[in-house]
Amino acid sequence: MKLVFATGNPGKLREAAEILGEGFELVTPAEVGIDQDIPETGNTLRANSLQKANYIYEKTGLDCFADDTGLEVDILGGAPGVETARYAGPQKNPADNIDKLLSEMARMEKEAAMARTNGLATPKATRAARFRTSVTLIIGGKRHFFDGIMEGRIATEKHGKGGFGYDPVFIPEGYEVTAAELTEEQKNAISHRGKALRAMAEYLRDSSLRSE
Ligand code: IMP
Repeated sequence: MKLVFATGNPGKLREAAEILGEGFELVTPAEVGIDQDIPETGNTLRANSLQKANYIYEKTGLDCFADDTGLEVDILGGAPGVETARYAGPQKNPADNIDKLLSEMARMEKEAAMARTNGLATPKATRAARFRTSVTLIIGGKRHFFDGIMEGRIATEKHGKGGFGYDPVFIPEGYEVTAAELTEEQKNAISHRGKALRAMAEYLRDSSLRSE
């Protein structure tokens, strides 16, 4: 099955191709003549993934899907969330995003420690975090949604060369290494994107069996 994946991120494309496996041919927006940045101006991950998929569908009429991912960090009250891609600014630079994340977390931890020394009851700072992905599939003009979550915590410094984005500082639950130190296969087996895209693939396989 041929699907346009509404992303310009080579890391996402590589992971999606690996997760979906044989039976799916993924096509990039550039390969169907869309060279401009796809807008993502929604207030939620679902709104953004729907906006990206709609953009491709309205321009091409082709079956397609999009994902939008957010990192939620407990000590930052769930930030950066929907702002994850442009946390440090519109240039969407992963190294700058990670630097900002670590410095914001250090600032919050310091504030909480000071509040505690001043006798204020502050909950113990936690580095718990999660990636959340919302996938929108448009097939035969109909929209379908699939979600995935990967729980974990934020490391105090970067480790590893694999993955992309915030992977060098994200330690998945049950591991002592960052997602950037896992093999692609290990990350895909537990990741937010792996869960959402496997649910999408299952839906497509089931619906093709129903129509046979
Ligand atoms: P978007 O879904 O393309 O808007 O990406 C949101 C932000 O999350 C970007 O900064 C990505 O680099 C980052 N991101 C998305 N998926 C992952 C992942 O699997 N690991 C680490 N960072 C990710």
